Amino acid sequence: MRVVFAGGGVISLLTAVECVSAGHEVVLADQSDIPFTGATSFDRHRVLRALHPGDLATTAAAVGAHHAWIEIEHLLSTAFYEQSGALTAIPAAEATAARDLLNAAGSKAEVFGAGELAAEFPHAGFVPGTGAVFESHAGVLLADRVLTACAGWLRWNAGAELRPHRKVIGVDADRAEVRLADGGILRGDAVLLAAGPWSRELLAPALARELVLHRQTMLYCDVPPADAGAWAATPAITPLGSDGGAWLVPPVAGTPLKLSAASACRVGAEVGGPVSPPWWREHLIDTFSELIPGFRR
Ligand SMILES: Cc1cc2nc3c(=O)[nH]c(=O)nc-3n(C[C@H](O)[C@H](O)[C@H](O)COP(=O)(O)OP(=O)(O)OC[C@H]3O[C@@H](n4cnc5c(N)ncnc54)[C@H](O)[C@@H]3O)c2cc1C
Repeated sequence: MRVVFAGGGVISLLTAVECVSAGHEVVLADQSDIPFTGATSFDRHRVLRALHPGDLATTAAAVGAHHAWIEIEHLLSTAFYEQSGALTAIPAAEATAARDLLNAAGSKAEVFGAGELAAEFPHAGFVPGTGAVFESHAGVLLADRVLTACAGWLRWNAGAELRPHRKVIGVDADRAEVRLADGGILRGDAVLLAAGPWSRELLAPALARELVLHRQTMLYCDVPPADAGAWAATPAITPLGSDGGAWLVPPVAGTPLKLSAASACRVGAEVGGPVSPPWWREHLIDTFSELIPGFRR
């Protein structure tokens, strides 16, 4: 089978690697470089965690993703998964059920009381009195390395053809055809449209209207040298237990500390650039000044 991909972000690149591994041919077109630093999946790091309270099937599927990422690291001969684990702040009454769910899904999990959290992670900014569940089959994916490794593997594989700087202007799923802005047409047996936030431009209007665009502002911070060791040994924390849903990704493998909050996510009308309005940056600085001891701009 020959599969045509419209878009070259993480969804397309990983699916293309899987297709080629299964013996299929792929051709992948992106409007920019492959990988494109402006794609939503291009970032220093992202969190992989499994806990979906009350939902064993989804939690088990996410534990499966943990194992799949380790396999992909081997296939691509690139280290990009820091298995730091993840902590989720959770009310004490729900912690045991969350731990049991994770264990049933195949992850190792542990309940931390408020006192244990404060003693072990005093730098991390948990809301006083908050408890948490720790899951071991979780951690931080170095997103830029993932995309670069996938693109590099495909580039040298005879079953794959990468077409950077080819804007797609139309997708005909029934005919498995993709039309390019330069007049070219890519044909296959199947098409995958994965154009991230730009997908609305390529979908049928009725479907495009159902998609909601979200924007999120994040802070990337240096940690004080004296605390660097403690931060490097900190799991991903999603969330910290604050009202605004603050969360953090620890500084692993040379990355900065990444901070954000559910309160910094909003619906947007258009796909914008990488810079957020200053108000959102100030909102996050105020949020974390109240949470992380010694936090300052
Ligand atoms: C702030 C934020 C935080 C997130 N955090 C996490 C997390 O911690 N863990 C997690 O699992 N997920 C997270 N996600 C979700 C995850 O990043 C997205 O699911 C993912 O980025 C989507 O990947 P994609 O390949 O579909 O799109 P993208 O990565 O955006 O790639 C789309 C590609 O399509 C190309 N393209 C667009 N239009 C065209 C066109 N007309 N012709 C040709 N090419 C085109 C673009 O150039 C781009 O390269 C987060 C998302 C955001 C925004």
